[in-house]
Amino acid sequence: MTGAGEGAAPGLRGDLGLGLHRDAVLPTYARPDVTIVRGEACRAWDDAGRAYLDFGGGIAVVALGHCHPAVTAAAHAQLDALWHASNLYWTEPMLRLAGLLSARLGGAQAFFCNSGTEANEAALKVARKATGRPRIVALEGGFHGRTMGALSATGQPAKWVGFGPLLPGVAFARPNDVESLRAAASPGDDLALIILEPILGEGGVVPLEEGFVRTAAAIAAEAGALLCADEVQTGLGRTGTFFACEQLGVEPDLVTLAKGLANGLPIGALLVREGKAPAIGPGDHGSTFGGNPVACAAACAVVEAIDGELLANVVARGDQLAAGLRDLPGVREVRGRGLLAGAVLDRPAAPVVDACRDRGLLVLTAGADVLRLLPPLVVAEAEVEEALAIIGAALA
Ligand SMILES: *Cc1c(COP(=O)(O)O)cnc(C)c1O
Repeated sequence: MTGAGEGAAPGLRGDLGLGLHRDAVLPTYARPDVTIVRGEACRAWDDAGRAYLDFGGGIAVVALGHCHPAVTAAAHAQLDALWHASNLYWTEPMLRLAGLLSARLGGAQAFFCNSGTEANEAALKVARKATGRPRIVALEGGFHGRTMGALSATGQPAKWVGFGPLLPGVAFARPNDVESLRAAASPGDDLALIILEPILGEGGVVPLEEGFVRTAAAIAAEAGALLCADEVQTGLGRTGTFFACEQLGVEPDLVTLAKGLANGLPIGALLVREGKAPAIGPGDHGSTFGGNPVACAAACAVVEAIDGELLANVVARGDQLAAGLRDLPGVREVRGRGLLAGAVLDRPAAPVVDACRDRGLLVLTAGADVLRLLPPLVVAEAEVEEALAIIGAALA
């Protein structure tokens, strides 16, 4: 552990004294020596006053940029009215958000929770209860979260080590391998759910092919099982459409959302298409904080801001980013869609992330050799150029 104040502007970190408490945090993350204190649009500042261009977006969370005025105003207004009432009662922000999301997904019904992993837990439970069956098919390399059910459906064995036994009844198929999918799904008579990310995010920014996703939908429909699109990372306009699935020609029975939904306040949602879970009723699932009024008020402002103009910016800036990345030394391949971009490098990605941060740019990895970029959807042309120049310098 580094001590307080090391490398900081004189006084700042020492005055806050925060460095002293790093040992009081369970070390589940390997954090660099950076404490973020402020954000505005696509920029964030640390406690030493250094500015960063934020192309991690808090891991695809800060969809509209830090402290977006409309979202901030909505959250402020709700803070002054009501913080919490519990799910024993209706609240206006929760109802408004359900209506907005339902309108985006053909009359779907929403269950609100607090994170992506919780949204996927809800999907697993709804699928089992709705079908009366146990089995789940997920993808190798997929990521659905860290709680026991979502972890069991996460196709990354390294994340399981030390946490077994996992949920029984989960089989994995290879992404974009239809034969492997058919094998994992059979026999269909005990299949409850196929869950997949339209673009595997944590698993390396791997887009699923339209034919593969259509086959998954057909297998689920034939078997009487449900198809869930985990759009926790790809949803809310990130790929250029409200849901990434819109570009894949399928209508999943279940959709999970979280990351960008409230621009940084904790929230998750499971959307259930009309008539797909008639067995679900009072008492079947719940969450004390789920549908929190402040988070829902912020989320309403986010959903209302995702319009044609914003989506056009996602597509234009995404094309600009991908084209620029392809021209950089050390970039072997660029994958993704819109503002979910993965640059496959000819070297390990983690040192490149550090080198970018030293030059004032926050970026992410997705696996050992993939640099992952998830800027706010409002990112400007000049900011993309600036990021490309820094990544180029870091790779040179
Ligand atoms: C981040 C992520 C999750 C987990 O969300 P949390 O909010 O961290 O629980 C689940 N699925 C996908 C696709 C994700 O990217």
